[in-house]
Amino acid sequence: MENLTGFARLCVVYCLAAYVGQCFGFEEKPRVGIVGAGIGGTSAAYFLRELFGDDVEIDIFEKQHVGGRLTPVTISGHNYNAGGTIIHPANLYMINFTDILGLTRDTKPEPGRLGIFDGEEILFSTSDYSALTIAKLMWRYGMDAYNIQNWVRDKILQPLTRLYEFQKEGHAFSTVEDLLNAMEPTVVEYSKKTVKDLFKEEGFSDRFIDEFVTGAMRVNYGQTTGIQGLVGAVSMAGVERGLWNVVGGNHQVPQGLLRKSGANLIRGKVTAVSLTSEGSPPVYQIDYLPGKSTNEDDLNSKEYDIVIIATPFYNGMTDIKFEDFQTSIDPVSDAFHLTVASFIEGEPNASFFGLDSVDSLPNTFFTTNESCFFNSFAKQKPVSGETAEKTVYRVFSNSVPNVDQLKQLVPEWSDIRVVNWMAYPEYPSSVQLPSFTLHEQMYHINAIEMAASAMEMSAIGAKNVALLAYYRYTGQYDKIDETLTKPDNAQKSEL
Ligand SMILES: Cc1cc2nc3c(=O)[nH]c(=O)nc-3n(C[C@H](O)[C@H](O)[C@H](O)COP(=O)(O)OP(=O)(O)OC[C@H]3O[C@@H](n4cnc5c(N)ncnc54)[C@H](O)[C@@H]3O)c2cc1C
Repeated sequence: MENLTGFARLCVVYCLAAYVGQCFGFEEKPRVGIVGAGIGGTSAAYFLRELFGDDVEIDIFEKQHVGGRLTPVTISGHNYNAGGTIIHPANLYMINFTDILGLTRDTKPEPGRLGIFDGEEILFSTSDYSALTIAKLMWRYGMDAYNIQNWVRDKILQPLTRLYEFQKEGHAFSTVEDLLNAMEPTVVEYSKKTVKDLFKEEGFSDRFIDEFVTGAMRVNYGQTTGIQGLVGAVSMAGVERGLWNVVGGNHQVPQGLLRKSGANLIRGKVTAVSLTSEGSPPVYQIDYLPGKSTNEDDLNSKEYDIVIIATPFYNGMTDIKFEDFQTSIDPVSDAFHLTVASFIEGEPNASFFGLDSVDSLPNTFFTTNESCFFNSFAKQKPVSGETAEKTVYRVFSNSVPNVDQLKQLVPEWSDIRVVNWMAYPEYPSSVQLPSFTLHEQMYHINAIEMAASAMEMSAIGAKNVALLAYYRYTGQYDKIDETLTKPDNAQKSEL
């Protein structure tokens, strides 16, 4: 040791200590702090447990409800999904989660007919008879209604299969753009043009875009076809058959993942994340107010090797302070969109839609006109799958509707619940896709919402972030941001 410099001596001592620690089994486990117990945070905990095994301590901070935007609303003793509702049959992670948690999938969550309403009249409605629906679709939209299904399969679902494959192989990406590029470069191009331009370029008619696609954008994101095309393309996947949700409520998935991951739930509000040691690896401190406390004197803090922000860190969306970092930690510059979900128990007003009886009313209406105060109006089924004694309708709107507006849709009600959601990004016409990486071992799962916001997207982001954290912690940097070669078509797995 005499010939070694001070620094080298320190390294030798450190290595020896680590070796001795390993031999006697008392080396420290990495500590992970996750902010937010929605589907993103809880699935990250689950994936981290898969990667690290028992050798990790995970805390999840939650200031409100485990489940976040999947929290249900209760009316007359029945729960209804109030936020994230519909899951696509190709959403592999959500399917796997329900399987491992022993939950049941309801594949007929919103049965019945669909109507497209322009605020004055019903432009199109499906029929109870599929042959008649096909004929009506052909009459109004030509081959577009058929072509959209093939388009979604080829351009969105096939690349999604590829993404699952490379995530299974363990490839991780630092930015959302790199992740999507590895999936399929054209998918990134979609995010640089509007929904309207994308679908026009892909050969869909103005009528189909102005009615069908516009209706889908309004119900799914409360926005127009002027938003970036990728989110539009993803939400058109809803035209597929086999959409489902979880019997008993989608919030059971994050609740179950929390249990399964063995993570420690800390109820409280995170107020700050600071860098306490810049070393390699760095050490972070999370400050939080436990429970519902707002008293600064109650402030607690804990140290972590890895921090995962699993809540939207977007313009105006969080008051978490990031302190003592050498470079500023900035939120995604885009804001979030307000979607108001009003749940009304009562009989709908058929005459508002120009119909004589409630029986002839489609179960779900999409609207196409921005001057129409609501984006959608849809009959709801309790998450239990049971039939409620009284019907409940859900109205989505971009601002809180007044009583007179709601009375146009349901003249008299026995109960009403209004939930204001900061729901998803306010999408621009072209996006700058953000980074998952905020600092060496600090990540932002919800960066992926700029590409598209959905339960499965949060799970995909969570898987990527868990891999990133694991590889960086274990020094496997070669596994990050690899250039992947695209398999030829013959090797592509079927959906
Ligand atoms: C009205 C509506 C309809 C939707 N419909 C669908 C749909 O049909 N299908 C679909 O796939 N997706 C849908 N979505 C989107 C989907 O719900 C979300 O993409 C998904 O639930 C996001 O999950 P998350 O875990 O990333 O974020 P969140 O669910 O928002 O979880 C973040 C959690 O962090 C907590 N938190 C925030 N700040 C702090 C803090 N400082 N300290 C501690 N905890 C904190 C929050 O309380 C929250 O629980 C819909 C969303 C809305 C609002």
